[in-house]
Amino acid sequence: MIRITGLHKSFGNNHVLQGIDLTVHQGEVVVILGPSGSGKSTLLRCINYLETFEQGEIRIEGRPIGRTMVGGRSVEMPQKELNQIRQEVGMVFQSFNLFPHKTVIDNITMAPVTLRGLTHDEANRQALELLRKVGLEEKAYARPASLSGGQKQRVAIARALAMKPKVMLFDEPTSALDPETVGEVLQVMRTLAREGMTMVVVTHEMGFARDVADRVVVMDKGSIIEEGTPDKIFREPSHPRTQMFLHQVLKQDQDFR
Ligand code: ADP
Ligand code: MG
Repeated sequence: MIRITGLHKSFGNNHVLQGIDLTVHQGEVVVILGPSGSGKSTLLRCINYLETFEQGEIRIEGRPIGRTMVGGRSVEMPQKELNQIRQEVGMVFQSFNLFPHKTVIDNITMAPVTLRGLTHDEANRQALELLRKVGLEEKAYARPASLSGGQKQRVAIARALAMKPKVMLFDEPTSALDPETVGEVLQVMRTLAREGMTMVVVTHEMGFARDVADRVVVMDKGSIIEEGTPDKIFREPSHPRTQMFLHQVLKQDQDFR
C-alpha cells in the first residue's frame, strides 16, 4: 500500500530523513516510535507530500506521490496529479486543524463536495454516518469550539475518512488531549484498525502500540534503527537507543502493563 525507498529530506543543513526505506502492506497498522526531533512528523508529512523531499520515492498502491523519476531524475509531479493521489492518504494531526467557523458537519462535507464531486445530500448523509461511527452524531451542527479535545479529534478523523482514503496517517493524535479524552480517540482508531484500514501512527501510547500495531518502527536521528512486532520491540529491543527510549517513555506511561 505504501512503499518508501531511499527517502532523504533536509531542512537547510539539517539532514532530517537520512535514507528511509519502509513498506506498509494493505490493512497493516504500523506504529512509529522515536524521540522528539527524530523525523517522525517529517516522514508522515512526506507520505502525503505536505513536505517535499530531495531524494527517494514514495508510492501509494504503486503510484508515486509528489515526485517521480523521469529519465533518472526526480521531478515534481503536476499539481493536478498530486491532488488526485493525495486523496488516497488521510491525515490526522495533533492539533485537529478543524475550520472554526464551520459546523462539524460542514467541516466533514467540504472536501468530498469540492474534491470528490459528491452532492451536498450525499456528502451530508455520509458525514452523519461517519459521525455515528465516531460517536458524535448529536454534534453535527455544533461548532468545533464547543467540543472537547477528544471530540474535536474524532471529528478530524471523520473528516479524513470522508475522503475514503486508502491509508490513514496519524501524527500524535492524542498528545494534545486531556487524559480523560485520550481513550475515546484511541477507541475509534482501534475500530478503524479492526476494520482493515491501513494505518501509520506516530504515538507515545505504548498500550495502543502493543495491542493494535502489527509492526513497530523505531526512528532515531532521521533513520529507522529497528523494526519488528510489538512483542519483539517491547520485550527484546536490540538497539541500545530503542532500549533507552522505551525506558524513558514507559516510565511515564501508566497504562502500559
Ligand atoms: P519528530 O516528529 O520526530 O519530533 P520532526 O519531523 O518534527 O521530528 O523534526 C525533525 C527535525 O526536523 C527537527 O530537527 C526539526 O527541528 C526539523 N524540522 C521539522 N520541521 C521543520 C521545518 N518546517 N523547518 C525547519 N526544520 C524543521
Ligand atoms: Mg512530531
